[in-house]
Amino acid sequence: MLLRKEDHPTAEQVLARVRRRLPHVSLGTVYRNLDKLVRCGRVTRVPGGEGRMHFDARTDHHCHARCAKCGRVVDVELEVGQEMTEQARQCSGFRVTGASLVFEGLCPDCAAEDWKTSKPKERG
Ligand SMILES: [Zn+2]
Ligand SMILES: [Zn+2]
Repeated sequence: MLLRKEDHPTAEQVLARVRRRLPHVSLGTVYRNLDKLVRCGRVTRVPGGEGRMHFDARTDHHCHARCAKCGRVVDVELEVGQEMTEQARQCSGFRVTGASLVFEGLCPDCAAEDWKTSKPKERG
């Protein structure tokens, strides 16, 4: 399996992993294989920043947080409540069957880096 449950690589990152064993694999091949897995329901897509797509080996509805700086995506164990689901239903007219939110911000590493590099007067 190319994807571990806990990570959310982009197609490029999957390619880098595959190339360690199969150096001549192209990005197109990786995309086609990932698309196949998505269609089979074995992998889901998570929208990332700047039109990037991350791939997720978890296929249940769950939330994510994306780092605006390094682009890393992690799982967020958070239930989307009944109230929110109901609001989504009212706004869209959809029969809502699930939700997956993507939160944005800085991951702990980038937040620490940001803290170190920011000028003292900018610190809140
Ligand atoms: Zn980060
Ligand atoms: Zn996930």
